[in-house]
Amino acid sequence: MEKTAGISGVTMDKLVSLCKRRGFVFQSSEIYGGLSSAWDYGPLGVELKKRIQNFWWKEMTQLNDNIVGIDAAIMMHPKVWEASGHVENFTDPLVDCKKCRQRFRADQIPEENLIKHICPECGGELTEPRQFNLMFKTNIGPVENDASVVYLRPETAQGIYVNFRNVLQTSRVKIPFGIAQVGKAFRNEITTKNFIFRTCEFEQMEMQYFIHPSEDEKWFEYWKEKRFGYYKKLGIREEKLRFHQHGPGELAHYAKKAFDIEYEFPFGWKELEGVHNRTDYDLKRHIEYSGKDLSYLDDQSRERYVPYIIETSAGLTRTVLVVLSDAYDEEDVEGEKRVVMRFHPKLAPVTAAVFPLVKKDGLSEIAHNIEEDLREHFTTFYDQGGAIGRRYRRQDEIGTPFCITVDYQTKEDKTVTLRFRDSMEQIRVPVGEIPARIGKEIADYRRKE
Ligand code: ATP
Repeated sequence: MEKTAGISGVTMDKLVSLCKRRGFVFQSSEIYGGLSSAWDYGPLGVELKKRIQNFWWKEMTQLNDNIVGIDAAIMMHPKVWEASGHVENFTDPLVDCKKCRQRFRADQIPEENLIKHICPECGGELTEPRQFNLMFKTNIGPVENDASVVYLRPETAQGIYVNFRNVLQTSRVKIPFGIAQVGKAFRNEITTKNFIFRTCEFEQMEMQYFIHPSEDEKWFEYWKEKRFGYYKKLGIREEKLRFHQHGPGELAHYAKKAFDIEYEFPFGWKELEGVHNRTDYDLKRHIEYSGKDLSYLDDQSRERYVPYIIETSAGLTRTVLVVLSDAYDEEDVEGEKRVVMRFHPKLAPVTAAVFPLVKKDGLSEIAHNIEEDLREHFTTFYDQGGAIGRRYRRQDEIGTPFCITVDYQTKEDKTVTLRFRDSMEQIRVPVGEIPARIGKEIADYRRKE
């Protein structure tokens, strides 16, 4: 079969339309006209998101005997956010255009517009920047007063810090050790655009690593490299990844050193994950505000100290966008465009699709049985509608790495056609060997264009 090499060709319009058409991501509350910047994950999207989360969770907890998990509540005591500095510092500078009424983050518009006070969209006059706190506020209980105020957490990290002592006392971990958490976070972002890249409600995958203060450089380097390597394991192309070090003006209020891992999205290089040296800032502040002892006693040296923290903070929903952008590919096959999502097989929402070549002569029954047997091993999909070539293309478009076709030969020798998404190569495999063969293909997978 003649085909050109992968030509990628990804644009946001193509991605958004594929995501909607095939059930990855829908606009929130679409039947009411949609809620801006909120998105729902459809049948395939939720599978993809869960697989990314599981991949991260395994990487952090199962593959490290000194990292444990927690799942803290989204609503926390309001003092947490005073202690963390978010009430005071978690702000973005906001400017409004008096003419077109658009809102901008002052740090995200070109400096010359700011100096001249003119809107980058319509040239109208801009207001002076004013600080805008990104935390969503609500009230617990029926009375809306200052005493009932709670915030929706803007990061999952604080849930880990306030549980530091609980984890120490219950899980026999010793420094250095980490606590991992995945969950929702909320930020009242001034500008949300680019699909699921920046939303007010999103999910984070954070790991906080507690260390001796003298070892911060060493562990910072360790996690920085390890996290970069993780994205390669996830199947992301290395040339689309890079580091960006925060300069003094960019550093968050808690950070001594920070590196972003950036990905080249269709709209440019942007942050995907932050690796931060948060020092003893957070634990010390919680000691101060709670009056509780959050120090650590080294039982060998008898030294007591407040640990430093190296944080790895990744966006789960943002990683979904990275995985989608990176997987999208178009190629020309015999004069026709083939759209193929080149997901790592471990992430693909459907691992194996099973088709009867035709519906008649008992082929559907055989195919149904094979599909049912495979469910125990993989996520499967059965399809008997339309020409076989079209069925393959439908699976290519959702990134299914393996297709199994039952034909007349299957009745004679109990073999099927196993077709590979990336190369479109087809081989014959005995029915009984399908799970082992697919398992091996997944384990050995290396992305090829
Ligand atoms: P930015 O400066 O772009 O607003 P940030 O530097 O404040 O982001 P962090 O606080 O370091 O971001 O958050 C860690 C990770 O959480 C980010 O790398 C990103 O993947 C994810 N994240 C943060 N804000 C959002 C959001 N509004 N929508 C989706 N993901 C987000």
